[in-house]
Amino acid sequence: MIKVAKFGGSSLATSEQFKKIKDIIFKDKTRSVIVVSAPGKKDDSDHKITDLLYLIYAHIKYGVDCTKIFNIIKERYLEIKNNLGLKTAIEEEFLALEKSFSKTMSEEFLVSRGEYFCAKLMAEYLNYDFVDAKDIVFFNYEGKIDEQKTTDAVKKLFLISKKIVVPGFYGAYPDGSIHLFSRGGSDVTGAVLAKFTAATIYENWTDVSGFLVADPKIVDNPKKIREISYEELRELSYMGANVLHEDTIFPVQELDIPINIKNTNRPDEEGTVISSKCQDASQIITGITGKKLYESITIIKKPKASKIQVIQNVLDILEKYNINIEHIPSSIDTFSLIIERTSLAKQKYEIIAEIKKNDNVQDVIVDNDIALIAIVGRNMATKPGISAKIFSIFGQNDINIKVIAQASQELSIIIGVANNQFEKAIKAVYDCLIV
Ligand code: ASP
Repeated sequence: MIKVAKFGGSSLATSEQFKKIKDIIFKDKTRSVIVVSAPGKKDDSDHKITDLLYLIYAHIKYGVDCTKIFNIIKERYLEIKNNLGLKTAIEEEFLALEKSFSKTMSEEFLVSRGEYFCAKLMAEYLNYDFVDAKDIVFFNYEGKIDEQKTTDAVKKLFLISKKIVVPGFYGAYPDGSIHLFSRGGSDVTGAVLAKFTAATIYENWTDVSGFLVADPKIVDNPKKIREISYEELRELSYMGANVLHEDTIFPVQELDIPINIKNTNRPDEEGTVISSKCQDASQIITGITGKKLYESITIIKKPKASKIQVIQNVLDILEKYNINIEHIPSSIDTFSLIIERTSLAKQKYEIIAEIKKNDNVQDVIVDNDIALIAIVGRNMATKPGISAKIFSIFGQNDINIKVIAQASQELSIIIGVANNQFEKAIKAVYDCLIV
């Protein structure tokens, strides 16, 4: 039985945090594959090592001295090393790294050192084997995981060692050079290793005891989500909830490996379980989230024109400009495209001009003040009356609904309101539907 345990940056910020991790791991010896991020912030005034490494790269590139920043990084690791009485010769590696600083060096390599040094120290501290991610996580040149090569490497490694610490966030291209996942990508390393070691569970240790039903900056003291399905989590993270890296789900979902979100500072608290086998039916709504700053482009076609042809023409234009459409609510002679403002950017007027060129288009109307709220819950399916409740609570709170979308799976209801009604709407839905 193998448990993969990934620890995030705040869990690794100091030597004190390392001690907590050791206690956690030694309480359950099946926690045998450990994935670490780079040390994160100790407190709000502190910096993440990864951010500092990106900063160093920028200094090197523009020929600005980065000694001070590099010293801050070194001190962070030496605090951990010295307070835990470790021997790993990271000083020599720091020196070699500093000597290699040059305008032509790989940014990905430099930034990956954040997790690399952290894993080296953690491996010694736990007396586990250090395994460099470049020797176990492989990418093809498109930046996708090379499944075969990664499986083979894991199998081979497990013949020699069963207790390992692996740095998260990076792996190797076919030529051996370092490639990073996108930011927050140690979550993905954990998921990939859970898949290729066929782990029984993927524990993701962070500084909160699981996910909350709504953003605590909007709702006072929101409840915790105990169980959530893979699909619900994807909906929530896509629609703005700050949860796991969005590529975390696929590798574990394939083998139905549950993810347990746990708190390094309160290890006894239950956390949130993400799986395909959610039992809890006590809440109709699992989570409420959303994002501001969407725009809607409504196309009014001429009454006699074919709607399909107009839609097709408009979609071709958007494809040409590489624009992602969130939703397409429609009525008999109109349909709207809901698009994130940032993705429309400067091309907006060009796109509208092209749409208007179509003789079958009567008019195009733009509404640039839309926030989308996503109400997500597997338990909503087939239960009548949920949207009625939501609409009446919006009415009572004087919130005008601009857009409504629900997919047939009934996993989520998406509602568009004006940006300045966003917080009020989320609070209203929470108060009405969360018991
Ligand atoms: N250290 C990287 C970051 O800050 C990766 C991670 O922590 O998952 O994005």
